[in-house]
Amino acid sequence: MDFSFTPEQEAFRTKLRGFLDQCAAELFPPGGMSSLGVSLLDVTDDAQWERLLEYHRRLYRAGYVALHWPKEHGGAAADPVTLAIFQDETLRLGLPMFGANQLAIDRIGPTIIMLGTDQQRRRYLPKMLSGGEIWCQGYSEPNAGSDLAALKTSAVLENDHFVINGQKVWTSIAHRAQFQCLLVRTDTNAPKHRGISYLLVDMRTPGITIRPLVQITGERGFNEVFYDNVRVPKDNLVGALNDGWRASIATLMYERISGGARHPVERDLGELIALSKQVEFEGVAAYRHPYVRQKLAQFLIDARTVRLARYRALDSMRHQAPGAQSSFGKLLATELNLRMANFADELLGAHNVLAPGSFGAIGEGRWSQRLLGARALTIAAGSTEVQHNIIGERILGLPKE
Ligand SMILES: Cc1cc2nc3c(=O)[nH]c(=O)nc-3n(C[C@H](O)[C@H](O)[C@H](O)COP(=O)(O)OP(=O)(O)OC[C@H]3O[C@@H](n4cnc5c(N)ncnc54)[C@H](O)[C@@H]3O)c2cc1C
Repeated sequence: MDFSFTPEQEAFRTKLRGFLDQCAAELFPPGGMSSLGVSLLDVTDDAQWERLLEYHRRLYRAGYVALHWPKEHGGAAADPVTLAIFQDETLRLGLPMFGANQLAIDRIGPTIIMLGTDQQRRRYLPKMLSGGEIWCQGYSEPNAGSDLAALKTSAVLENDHFVINGQKVWTSIAHRAQFQCLLVRTDTNAPKHRGISYLLVDMRTPGITIRPLVQITGERGFNEVFYDNVRVPKDNLVGALNDGWRASIATLMYERISGGARHPVERDLGELIALSKQVEFEGVAAYRHPYVRQKLAQFLIDARTVRLARYRALDSMRHQAPGAQSSFGKLLATELNLRMANFADELLGAHNVLAPGSFGAIGEGRWSQRLLGARALTIAAGSTEVQHNIIGERILGLPKE
């Protein structure tokens, strides 16, 4: 097997690397939040959000924003190797893969390309790409998370509008978004998976109230969203009425692919190794301690496995829309991210209670922040247990739970 890159692929990498290094240096200088990883969960601060938007615009202008989209919809129809290079280089710096419009570019846009009308594609895709309209995803409700099909937010068709009532929760970046893909119940009598529809909703429509939720990290990344007689044009339905489960699964599968590609686990491992050279463990330099060395070696093996799972997911998209395979990368990356954050906590001991910016915080306090944030990532886009169930049932062929 030949794993070497062609001269064209190496040229693509060199140009991309120069571009990303410049963006990182100008927009997310060291010592700022970038050293913690530029995260869409941290969109509290207006200045940070403006930097993310600017990063998005630069990606767009340089033609990097949606390499995986088909050319006729503004993408580059890039092959899996080019996409892998793009992922590797972005993750090297911990930059967000799809700028400020991650949800639009990685999952909602592809769902509209797959199931939307020509009119919807023309109306929404260009501004997704340019960052002119930011999107969020209204799926989860207080009593519908893992069991998403239990959702109750209702939409009733009145002439040429749906009238929506209900509540969503954990809606990431709703407070920054202009649009949302929204799952609603349109038939209360049908079996629960069959009475759901997928709508595109303008967040400025009267009757929508957005209330921020504050995470344990102190960041304000997600929200509760309430709908009180919100009127949405009938033309904003994606796919057929009551067939929204199909669209929602497409969106979730694309989301899990990017879930495996979002966490810069190899970069973080480099920082963990650097940390092991800074601190002591049981009276010796941590990196000399056999327990620490065993752990670091295992993390490296796991990080390489995550990389291969990413590549495999990209390759599988060449032939088909993503399937249960996309659960692997999401599961491996988010669990590894959590284990590394826990291990940093073990190394740092009491030092890890110091928040970023505190006097005496080792490594700028980034590990305490990462530890607080890591659990959430194992829940978002379907929890670890749900990924295990999917792999068990759809890949191993185990009976349904
Ligand atoms: C950071 C973050 C961002 C998010 N962003 C969004 C967003 O933008 N839009 C959106 O719609 N939602 C979003 N979510 C919500 C997310 O999709 C849900 O939190 C997730 O699906 C789990 O649902 P739940 O919180 O209701 O937990 P529950 O479904 O109530 O699960 C509680 C626990 O039970 C376990 N469990 C549940 N069912 C099973 C089962 N069948 N077998 C074994 N164990 C099970 C779960 O693994 C979990 O540990 C976000 C969540 C997080 C953490």
